[in-house]
Amino acid sequence: MNQHTQLFIDGAFMPANGGQDIPVIDSFTEEPFGTCRTASAADVDAAVTAARRAFEGWSATPVVDRVAAVRRVAAALRDQADALTVAISREVGMPRKLAARIQVGGPISAWDMYADLAAEFEWETRVGHSLVQQVPTGVVACITPWNYPLHQITGKVAPALLAGCTVVLKPSELAPTSAFLLAEAVRQAGLPDGVFNLVHGTGPEVGEALVRHPEVDMVSFTGSTRAGRHIAAIASGDIKRIALELGGKSAALVLPGADLAAAVKVTLAGCMLNSGQTCSATTRLLVPHRDLEAAEVLARDLLAGYRMGDPADGATRVGPLISKAQQRKVQGLIDDALAAGARRVGDDASLPTHGFFVAPTVLANVLPDMAIAREEVFGPALVLMGYDSVDDGIALANSTDYGLAGAVWGPVAPDTLSVARRLRAGQVDINGAPFNPAAPFGGFKKSGIGRENGRFGIDEFLEPVSIQLPPAFIETLST
Ligand code: NAD
Repeated sequence: MNQHTQLFIDGAFMPANGGQDIPVIDSFTEEPFGTCRTASAADVDAAVTAARRAFEGWSATPVVDRVAAVRRVAAALRDQADALTVAISREVGMPRKLAARIQVGGPISAWDMYADLAAEFEWETRVGHSLVQQVPTGVVACITPWNYPLHQITGKVAPALLAGCTVVLKPSELAPTSAFLLAEAVRQAGLPDGVFNLVHGTGPEVGEALVRHPEVDMVSFTGSTRAGRHIAAIASGDIKRIALELGGKSAALVLPGADLAAAVKVTLAGCMLNSGQTCSATTRLLVPHRDLEAAEVLARDLLAGYRMGDPADGATRVGPLISKAQQRKVQGLIDDALAAGARRVGDDASLPTHGFFVAPTVLANVLPDMAIAREEVFGPALVLMGYDSVDDGIALANSTDYGLAGAVWGPVAPDTLSVARRLRAGQVDINGAPFNPAAPFGGFKKSGIGRENGRFGIDEFLEPVSIQLPPAFIETLST
């Protein structure tokens, strides 16, 4: 059992005083394999106070030293890659082989990528007679979800530290292990006391205490639209800066003349990755009406290859969902859709005897106003829908409350790019082009506010400050 009873505050591990031990559940065995003790209000205050105290020194630390510190964190994380993979795979349910690459290898490389970007970042520019400096926003509360725990922590903590901010992290109480290992990596990397702090606990208690804390300058939140709305309301009362990465209901729009087989294969794979627990998953496959039947046949044949099982087994393609509650919610949305007239493509697969599984599901006969076509499911469920003209397809793709991601499949021609430009989503892939960690990531509408990843992620934690210079000072600068 991993007993995580410690928080990381002001450069040291110390006992958590919240008094509640939250079990960390293995999503396949359904048994606890650890506990995580919650922080008290006084612990949260101590963490924010430490971050505030550290801010002046860290923000004045030369960028080259901040970059070196972040590279040391990356190296220390790399030493723990196996432990990270096993823990995240057990918590979240992603097959271990995939978790090693996507949940662990990618995020660790991202620590180094952010360091590279910070080293070449334009921290100061000239606008006429003004000097425009990029200065750190201050003390940042980072609140993260469970589905890609280390990836989401990395997307906030690494750029915030490089920007010169100090951080208090509250990870998801359902998948806290990677945050403990990160705190250990920070300790080994020898960051100054208080620059990075870690508190644990539930959102409404510990998360909200952080958001309300008067010494927090910015809240960077990734999670549900429900919690994001609540956090934004609290933060706006104090005019705190916010960044919100929220839910999605992304569409893959297949244009006439596209490679339908490739479109169905890649869209299904994206939807089933991490058992559908991916905010940017393309969960709506939109095809011209005349291609619906062919798309259904392709999807049915592919579904047979999505083998459910033990995430530790190399042959498993689909693991369990994170929790019993998530399993119930996802299965409920699928059952409601079937009751409302949707039709399951292929057979209803039998589930492993334990683990929070939902069978990979493709639904046809889905109408645009059904909940399954509009709401984020966050499970392995793809809806297949038809459209008439390309304009109708674009309107359907843009018709939900979300705008996080999208995909377009079409001939290699300017028209395909024109359609991609008309999707109201933060990132759009054409013909299966892969994820780019250096490109901006974030949403329109109820998918959020702000952008993460690459240099855009560093921007998120900076404020431009302009200093107007009289001619005599300008002359001193140019010499
Ligand atoms: P969640 O909103 O329940 O929790 C996310 C985090 O917020 C957790 O740490 C939780 O403890 C905390 N929290 C919850 N209520 C809070 C409150 N009132 N005050 C402060 N903190 C609070 O989300 P989840 O179930 O952990 O994650 C799934 C959701 O995250 C999905 O909707 C998914 O789309 C979204 N997500 C978005 C992105 C993105 O980049 N846009 C990435 C991953 C996940």
